[in-house]
Amino acid sequence: MMSNIVQKDAGIIVMHNIFWFRNNFRLSANEPLLQCLKNSTSLSFIHIINPKINELNLEGNKKNLFYLRALIELEKKLQKKGHKLYIFHGEPKEVFAQIMMGNKINEVYAEKIYAPYELEEENIGIHTNFIWDSTLINESDLPFAINELPDTFTTFRKQIENNKIRVFSEDTPKFPSKTNLKEVKEFKLPLLPEFMFTGSVEFLNDYPISEEGANRYVDDYFSTQKPSTYKSTRNELSGMNFSTKFSVWLSLGFISVKQVFNKLKEYESLNGENESTYWIFFELLWRDYFRFLHIKYNKQLYLKNGLERNLQRINYSNENIPLINSANTNSTFINAAINELKKSGFLSNRMRQILASFIVNEMNIDWRWGADFFQKFLIDFDIYSNQGNWIYIAGFGTDPRGGRKFNIVKQKKMYDPNNQYENKWNENT
Ligand SMILES: Cc1cc2nc3c(=O)[nH]c(=O)nc-3n(C[C@H](O)[C@H](O)[C@H](O)COP(=O)(O)OP(=O)(O)OC[C@H]3O[C@@H](n4cnc5c(N)ncnc54)[C@H](O)[C@@H]3O)c2cc1C
Repeated sequence: MMSNIVQKDAGIIVMHNIFWFRNNFRLSANEPLLQCLKNSTSLSFIHIINPKINELNLEGNKKNLFYLRALIELEKKLQKKGHKLYIFHGEPKEVFAQIMMGNKINEVYAEKIYAPYELEEENIGIHTNFIWDSTLINESDLPFAINELPDTFTTFRKQIENNKIRVFSEDTPKFPSKTNLKEVKEFKLPLLPEFMFTGSVEFLNDYPISEEGANRYVDDYFSTQKPSTYKSTRNELSGMNFSTKFSVWLSLGFISVKQVFNKLKEYESLNGENESTYWIFFELLWRDYFRFLHIKYNKQLYLKNGLERNLQRINYSNENIPLINSANTNSTFINAAINELKKSGFLSNRMRQILASFIVNEMNIDWRWGADFFQKFLIDFDIYSNQGNWIYIAGFGTDPRGGRKFNIVKQKKMYDPNNQYENKWNENT
């Protein structure tokens, strides 16, 4: 292995660093990247497709197609800056061992991810600066230590919502020169088939899957009056006019939550605040809350009984899993939801709650299987929000009511009285 001792060229400390894109696929308002740019004299950008996190089967899986398009756009963006994105396939430890064999690298910079598997991924055998950058509120600005994070969302929200939110400067420093990595085995991205996004995320056909696309989309959203009616429409099941769809842009970090917050504040200053504009902020706080819960509890959120000590309630069975996999349950409403998830890669928040409740309460399937099922298909998959919401519905997280059980017949009557949703997603299946 080559030495990674800092070399001195004519008295200047030379830092050959690596920036590892994990989830934050953007060049602006990206704190780990900012730190990296400040501290590097030359740089290589890498991304690692870890098969344990991303299975790359492309056959109709919109999540994977979305992800690969995003990588292609990121490659192009770096090329314009005179850089290259090295893409690897494998476990990070092995990838870095290979890089270090043929290259002198001083430091690695990357986003910190507080989920159990992603934390394990961090053991790569080289000094790495993992920098936290995915919440609206900085951890250091919380009015309590993280181990005192309230166990209910409402208490958390009340304690923090009046805090001043510090937003990072958006200037991105000049990029240092490129370091070519030698003797590494790069992964060649597969050719993408022709495909279209459908359902509630059909709009993705009109935007590049990139930082530019995210900014343009969020600006377009705030140029309408939709934010002022968000609260009354957010529970609808499908279409473009309910909820913001920001999750698809936040998931891979094409835009940061702080940037979204700035744009929301700008909208409010031009159009006025109301309950709906506040509610967008309120939902973004839920996103933060599940992140902070991960910092506090981490692996515990992945146990069958989660944060609860009483094991007696758990008696799950795998028997009904094939019914979910094949969208062949006794509820045509639920089958439509499964079809929508698989075909489009998206579900409304309401439908996620109904389907999760059905899987846990009616099918008696382990909620963690449900969380994995969503992970496979959701374009906007986010480890913190997915795990946090699943454990909440299953009643092993921080729900003060001990879990949520939805009456499927009632929900169907309320949200799909004319069968429009069912007909759309059960068609041709
Ligand atoms: C079982 C289950 C699994 C989920 N899995 C994910 C997931 O993998 N990725 C994901 O981003 N969201 C997840 N959610 C949360 C929520 O359903 C989505 O964030 C939301 O539907 C995305 O659509 P939107 O951007 O239009 O949301 P909007 O209603 O417009 O909300 C604005 C933003 O607030 C945040 N937000 C809204 N609701 C929640 C919530 N309940 N929890 C955390 N953040 C929230 C999101 O960042 C969202 O983009 C899940 C919810 C459930 C019930």
